[in-house]
Amino acid sequence: MRLNVPLTGAPEVDAVREVIESGYLTQGAKTAAFEDSIRAYTSARHAAAVSSATTGLHLALVALGVQPGDEVVIPGFSFPATANAVIQQGAIPVFVDIDAATFNLDPALLEAAITDRTRAIMPVHAFGLCADMDAITAVAERRGLPVLEDAACALGGTYDGRHAGTLGTAGVYSFHPRKIITTAEGGMITTDDDTLAARISVLRAHGAVRGELFMEFVDAGFNYRLSDVHSAIGLAQMTRIDEIVSGRRRAAAALTSRVAGIAGVQAPTEPAGTAHTFQSYVVRLDDDIDRDEVIRRMRTRDVETTLGTYGMHLQPYFRERFAIPDAALPETTRAHHQALTLPLYPQLTDDDLDTVAEALRLSVWESPRR
Ligand SMILES: *Cc1c(COP(=O)(O)O)cnc(C)c1O
Repeated sequence: MRLNVPLTGAPEVDAVREVIESGYLTQGAKTAAFEDSIRAYTSARHAAAVSSATTGLHLALVALGVQPGDEVVIPGFSFPATANAVIQQGAIPVFVDIDAATFNLDPALLEAAITDRTRAIMPVHAFGLCADMDAITAVAERRGLPVLEDAACALGGTYDGRHAGTLGTAGVYSFHPRKIITTAEGGMITTDDDTLAARISVLRAHGAVRGELFMEFVDAGFNYRLSDVHSAIGLAQMTRIDEIVSGRRRAAAALTSRVAGIAGVQAPTEPAGTAHTFQSYVVRLDDDIDRDEVIRRMRTRDVETTLGTYGMHLQPYFRERFAIPDAALPETTRAHHQALTLPLYPQLTDDDLDTVAEALRLSVWESPRR
């Protein structure tokens, strides 16, 4: 059983065929329509499609005015693209430890991470669960800092009834096949800020603005566009978004009822006022359980699992460059070693979920305790 299988079929195939047959392949009408569908769904004022969440985060940081040498505060526990986007701008990621229960940035530790070189705060909505945005926004406002949400996993997630990605200054979604909807590769930046949206639009496509006859190049921009081929897939996916999000939430609730009783396993939590997308369904194993051994045993039962996500300071590049001791990020370090992602997607049946839970029960039980 795979970790995730995107919900795609004839509508996506037909949409791609239509674009190819039209002869207009790159960013055009389909991309504009895809952006409109994301705006309508999230209530964001602006949406700009980009080639990935990673390029979207980079572009948003540049548009926010982050310069080489500046600092950007991020949680320690994330897919490394979060930090890479900061590094690509020559800026310095400052890692903050996470809350053990939610896997999200611990806002109690945020203020202490801010210096006079901090230019942005970049919370991640881990696995589709919104970070504690009220607390983060309060600190950001007090310090006059923009908040860029890494909402890569959180399309469809909500916080006090508002959409993930619309809670800060700007937000970025991913459309990689492991995420909520897919365009194969792709991303989207959302913001309510007109000036920021205009800068993003220009920087996304070579720094060019349209003149009467020719383009004029007003900045050294990027090519971070999303093609109409990809956007057509996204547009077809958006007709299924409610089915996908509610299907993931149904499967997650059904899986939680099956794993909650397994000794040594803690099911994911969903704080009051939030709606989790369960982009990844991540359990925590007790500290004396060898998580990697559980992954190996699950594999022998033909159930694909993986780590939750990364303690970035434990990865070779970050270790060599920043040499952050584990004691500085204790919960990030624990989550890196003890979190486990189980298969979850709307197509899973109750029988499939029984199989996952039973494989987990046996694999945990068989694994020697440390
Ligand atoms: C997947 C992911 C990204 C990168 O998304 P891409 O679209 O693959 O570039 C960034 N941040 C987080 C938290 C992610 O999970």
